[in-house]
Amino acid sequence: MQISKHKVVTLDYTLTNDGGEVLDTSKGQEPLAYMHGTGFMIPGLEKALEGKTSGNSFSVTVEPRDGYGERDDDLVKVVEQAMFGGVEKLEVGMQFQAETDDGIEMVTITAVEGDKVTVDGNHPLADVTLNFGVQVVGVREASQEEIEHGHVHGAGGHQH
Ligand code: ZN
Repeated sequence: MQISKHKVVTLDYTLTNDGGEVLDTSKGQEPLAYMHGTGFMIPGLEKALEGKTSGNSFSVTVEPRDGYGERDDDLVKVVEQAMFGGVEKLEVGMQFQAETDDGIEMVTITAVEGDKVTVDGNHPLADVTLNFGVQVVGVREASQEEIEHGHVHGAGGHQH
């Protein structure tokens, strides 16, 4: 069975940057399960998976524009510490959901100086060229219920 829209795909993967550093891997965990064509995967990887079948192994290099985007310096902002009311100690690396004009976005604290906090709304992998090693473990039809929910049920997916 070939991967196409609404197929449920399970796969093993290892993600490295251009320096060969492993950024993420499914090794030692359950394979990842996702529904193809629902925007779950970054575009470059989804495109590479299209038409593949169970047992296929391949490598693909995904440029930032087809991955987590290119860095946008406008997404770096300095805000008042008071905006984080309720958080006792702000530290570099903490992540928060922020309400912006474009909806909810994840921001990462990159600096804390006095009562000024620098937050960065870029994805941590923005501007990174992604090298995926992928092995397709399984491909199956999604159930009607999964298609309605827009996500995978059972192993590697939602348990509900
Ligand atoms: Zn569901």
